[in-house]
Amino acid sequence: MPQGKAAGERCIHLTLDHLCAIFAQPDRPAVCGAFAADPAVCGASREEAIRLLGWWEQATAS
Ligand code: SF4
Repeated sequence: MPQGKAAGERCIHLTLDHLCAIFAQPDRPAVCGAFAADPAVCGASREEAIRLLGWWEQATAS
């Protein structure tokens, strides 16, 4: 995604089973590689992560 990914926009590399299609490849964005999962962001389940990420997107929207 050379123009970047807007908040709430699905990454083109995210597969239908919610995995990164370029996880081990060198063109994976550095920001993705630097992200460390944290319970405050990811919660304890996929459903909780989606809810928390939605909250973070709204809370940090400009
Ligand atoms: S880790 Fe990065 S490149 Fe991979 S699916 Fe998620 S946002 Fe896209």
